[in-house]
Amino acid sequence: MKDYRAYSYWLETCGDDLTPRPPLAGSTEVDVAILGAGFTGLWTAYHLLKREPGLTVAVVEAEIAGFGASGRNGGWCYAGMAVPPAEMTRRYGEESARATARAMIGSVDDVEAVAAEEGIAADITRGGAIEFARAEYQLPKIRAMAEEFAAIGLGDRVVWLDPPEAAAHLNVPGALGAVWTKDGLAVQPAKLVRGLARAVERHGGVIYERTPVLDYTGGERPVLVTERGEVRARRAIILAGEAYLARLDKLRRHVIPLTSNIVLTEPLPPDAWEEIGWEGRATVGGFGPSGGYIQRTADGRIAFGPYWARYPFASRVDDALDHDEEVYERARRSLRTWFPQTEQCRITHAWGGVLGAPRDQMPTMGFNRRTKVGLAFGYTGEGVAAANLSGRTLADLITETDSVLTRLPMANHLPKEWEPEPLRWAGVNYVRKAYRKLDEEAERTGSYPKRKTMAQLLFDR
Ligand SMILES: Cc1cc2nc3c(=O)[nH]c(=O)nc-3n(C[C@H](O)[C@H](O)[C@H](O)COP(=O)(O)OP(=O)(O)OC[C@H]3O[C@@H](n4cnc5c(N)ncnc54)[C@H](O)[C@@H]3O)c2cc1C
Repeated sequence: MKDYRAYSYWLETCGDDLTPRPPLAGSTEVDVAILGAGFTGLWTAYHLLKREPGLTVAVVEAEIAGFGASGRNGGWCYAGMAVPPAEMTRRYGEESARATARAMIGSVDDVEAVAAEEGIAADITRGGAIEFARAEYQLPKIRAMAEEFAAIGLGDRVVWLDPPEAAAHLNVPGALGAVWTKDGLAVQPAKLVRGLARAVERHGGVIYERTPVLDYTGGERPVLVTERGEVRARRAIILAGEAYLARLDKLRRHVIPLTSNIVLTEPLPPDAWEEIGWEGRATVGGFGPSGGYIQRTADGRIAFGPYWARYPFASRVDDALDHDEEVYERARRSLRTWFPQTEQCRITHAWGGVLGAPRDQMPTMGFNRRTKVGLAFGYTGEGVAAANLSGRTLADLITETDSVLTRLPMANHLPKEWEPEPLRWAGVNYVRKAYRKLDEEAERTGSYPKRKTMAQLLFDR
């Protein structure tokens, strides 16, 4: 049996002993069958059961609830999305961009409200998310983030902070300014996802663990196929396996897995916290070669995840991907530039996981009424709050509730396929390396090159 505690500090300290729930014990029939007990699958189950309490819902999980990215992430539950407002506006118009941004704010509120209502103690603090510029060349990008939200009428939710204003939140050496997304929570993700699984069960859902889904079919009675039998569904099957969906033949090119890793310090001494400040526990981030996503944990540690992803050939995901010494070393070095107070601190934990990246950066939260198959994935590392939006949207779609959510672009989005291998591997790595080189060059010279590179023309971000 796997030691699930070893997969992240969050899982280790979530308070559960992580003994798997019983697997599926033979074929069964329910109203809704869901693949995956991460945030996406569980929020979908939760909102369906709240909406129609008599519904029978089964969640079928290959490992245990929270095994995937949901039990390992940086704990940023904030209103940002992989496709920012300006790009949303360009693709779908200003109204859709505004509705999406508002829906994401609604998701942050919903996560907080459900956690309170269900008694899920997930170390939640509402401090928003602050993204810093620590070099001149980063300023335009940070300023643009605030401007993009202002352009869709949400300039009061995402605001520019000049250095003294930023320092009132926390002290970061060399900070030249920051953008503060006010709608955001710091969460202990494993406590949240495990608590959500229990809430789903309290509302009548059943979770089968250690039961990999091998295939699925849509139709009048759509089916999840496992080694232990089939789960047939009267109303819908939902595929909520994020990066792992690439393991299913039918979805092999819908999504690619990208790795992300985190290092965690021991608790910092009180004098270090006095220097840093950071009482509001806003989640913190920044760009460039030493950038990353950062959390002050409820127990006084710092979790630091560098933006340094890898893509495994043919989208093959296994546990070996979870650890990467080179990335950990980069994280340790970068962390010290952000917080010199951690110089003498021990790194007690380091882990990783995979997130799902769609070809066009656009999450899908859709349900096909004809095939009765629902699909929600593709958050590109910004899925903690977005998975809640998936759950609420799918609940509306399956119960045929016309709402603002069912008209969002993600609800009508058709995934764009990635290229076949080996083209995919070559292309992804080419673009990733080219962007890293750009960042390193900007760090060295103080600005990005004026003319766009080939990688930017092929895959602008
Ligand atoms: C290290 C790291 C840091 C991150 N930091 C942040 C952050 O700070 N903020 C943020 O917003 N996002 C972050 N993300 C992304 C975020 O965690 C994910 O987008 C989100 O958790 C996705 O939830 P999910 O339920 O869709 O997928 P997952 O949590 O990956 O869950 C999918 C589940 O489906 C199961 N499954 C898959 N295939 C099958 C199958 N065939 N049969 C049965 N079960 C199956 C898996 O075992 C898994 O439990 C991070 C991701 C990583 C890896």
